Amino acid sequence: MASNNIRSTDLTNPSENPADKHPKPPFPSKPQDVPGTEAAMDPQADHGEKTYKGRNRLAGKSAVITGGDSGIGKAVAIAFAREGADVLISYLDDVEDRDAQDTINFIEDAGRKAVLVKGDISSESHCRKIIETAVASFGKIDILVNNAAYQMSRETLQDIPAWEWEKTFAVNIHSMFYLCKAAEPHMLPGSSIINTTSVNAYEPTPMLLPYAATKAAIQNFTANLSRILLENGKGIRVNAVAPGPIWTPLIPSTIPDHDRFGEDTPLERPGQPAEVAPAYVFLASDEASYISGATIPVTGGRITI
Ligand code: NAD
Ligand code: MG
Repeated sequence: MASNNIRSTDLTNPSENPADKHPKPPFPSKPQDVPGTEAAMDPQADHGEKTYKGRNRLAGKSAVITGGDSGIGKAVAIAFAREGADVLISYLDDVEDRDAQDTINFIEDAGRKAVLVKGDISSESHCRKIIETAVASFGKIDILVNNAAYQMSRETLQDIPAWEWEKTFAVNIHSMFYLCKAAEPHMLPGSSIINTTSVNAYEPTPMLLPYAATKAAIQNFTANLSRILLENGKGIRVNAVAPGPIWTPLIPSTIPDHDRFGEDTPLERPGQPAEVAPAYVFLASDEASYISGATIPVTGGRITI
């Protein structure tokens, strides 16, 4: 009988409600210096270390992920490796060496090649070095994830130094141009570029004026580049992911009231990096072959229309 096949659902099971799946604020978290580290996070973030199950969706591919040491980039690196991809991760600072090494261990545990490149992506020559290292290590690049970013909270317009305005654009959007330009000749048809934007592109936070402006620029860059790299016959898809509030070292190092971070979403909690990574896997996979110029919001229900 058909009715015997219907799975019985426990309507009271809290683990199936996304609101209850991860910790809710207030958090005991303490402020950190930029760029922040995973070890100093309280509570610790979830990058899918114990939960992400790969299904060979990126078998034989190789990926470059900026900011792959921590936060969203780390969860994406773990997921990509478990889906069968070799991964190069780039990161900024000596203080992040431990986070980067931890990510490397997860990539290697998945049986994939892992490569680390440390340095500042606001320099075009460093971006070229990242791409050259990936090509020397893997022979090609199938997936470029432009994910690293800088932000700082400032109360007023007068509080924003000109150097910080320029640095925010240099790290967040100039680097995407440098990396995409250097990578294009090494990307075959079927490859894809995924840029991390933000809910701030749609709903800018006054304390993050320069950052929000870079995220809006990334949306426009993504849409336009997606046309260029399909219409020129290269067959490279370009998409974006727009996270809402996600619990990463960026937050306690740059947001003053981070103990309440994410409480203002419909789910009343921040997302965990593990909850963002599947969007990158999908966009990078061949299942997304008809998707280019799109942005997937991962915002805990905050609306981006
Ligand atoms: P994170 O601090 O874990 O990752 C950012 C990484 O960027 C750092 O690990 C750092 O190594 C790297 N980085 C910073 N400046 C750099 C530079 N000059 N050169 C090279 N690398 C540099 O934080 P995250 O939240 O995982 O951030 C990842 C992306 O997600 C960013 O683009 C951020 O804007 C975006 N995002 C985050 C949130 C959030 O709430 N956490 C929300 C929306 C968008
Ligand atoms: Mg980091």
